[in-house]
Amino acid sequence: MTGNSQWNGQFSCFDLVAKTAQRSRTVVQVGDLTIGGDSFVVMAGPCAIESERQILRTAEAVAAAGARVLRGGAYKPRSSPYSFQGLGVEGLKLLSKARRETGLAIVTEAMDEEDVHIIAEYADIMQVGTRSMENYSLLEALGKCGRPVLLKRGMTARLEELLRSAQVIASAGNPDIILCERGIRTFETATRNTLDIAAVPVLKAVSHLPVIVDPSHAAGVRSLVSVLARAAAVVGADGLLVEVHPDPANALSDGMQSLSFDEFEEMMRDLRRYVTLSRSLEPVDARPLVAGGTC
Ligand code: PEP
Ligand code: MN
Repeated sequence: MTGNSQWNGQFSCFDLVAKTAQRSRTVVQVGDLTIGGDSFVVMAGPCAIESERQILRTAEAVAAAGARVLRGGAYKPRSSPYSFQGLGVEGLKLLSKARRETGLAIVTEAMDEEDVHIIAEYADIMQVGTRSMENYSLLEALGKCGRPVLLKRGMTARLEELLRSAQVIASAGNPDIILCERGIRTFETATRNTLDIAAVPVLKAVSHLPVIVDPSHAAGVRSLVSVLARAAAVVGADGLLVEVHPDPANALSDGMQSLSFDEFEEMMRDLRRYVTLSRSLEPVDARPLVAGGTC
């Protein structure tokens, strides 16, 4: 069997998130912002909220450069137990202050089903991190939280498994899901993760959900973020999630891959022509060659 001939077989079980003739596109509405519609939406901010000054300065800088959503972790899934774990509720309050001051929507991660309720009081979009993609009790709680969910691909998850997790959220009652390719584990170690750029056209072909790319966690180094962002735009992503910090060298989390304000502004300027280009491209027919498949 070729890869293409398996597509329908692989993805047909996830009927709530699969693309059909009746349902070809979900546009997630966040206030006056639409994700998965005609605009390319950039979400940007620090890996972790560290202080009021840090998050407010970043919010102003990314908004001025054209971001529409502020990211910032209050509850951090750190690889080491000795790393900074986040400010918790204090961080959520700072995000909400930043929203008031800039008008940006807020995306932040929920790691535990017990925190979903409190985070949903502050966040506009609930992020599921790569380490939590198969935390089904968390996904079920997010299915009932009343906020859109940004679902990151597990670092060792196949696209089928990403869609299975999306189906868990949808079947718990929440159709507003944004998929996020953030790089996967491969034998390659030159980058922190391997950005699976093909994930974008494959997901867009088999699912009606919006797809965004996180070039920061894929690259692991800031020098690659902008070029991966270009690629994401050209393959048809609906937006980006990018780490930005006022002083990347002294960031408490993911400083190596965080852009400074100037670098972010430069990336946004550079990106414009690729977003325009992507709009002018013929859509690629990435549908499977052979229909059918079983659950
Ligand atoms: C993050 O967005 O800061 C994060 C922890 O991402 P991931 O879950 O993709 O590692
Ligand atoms: Mn991070």
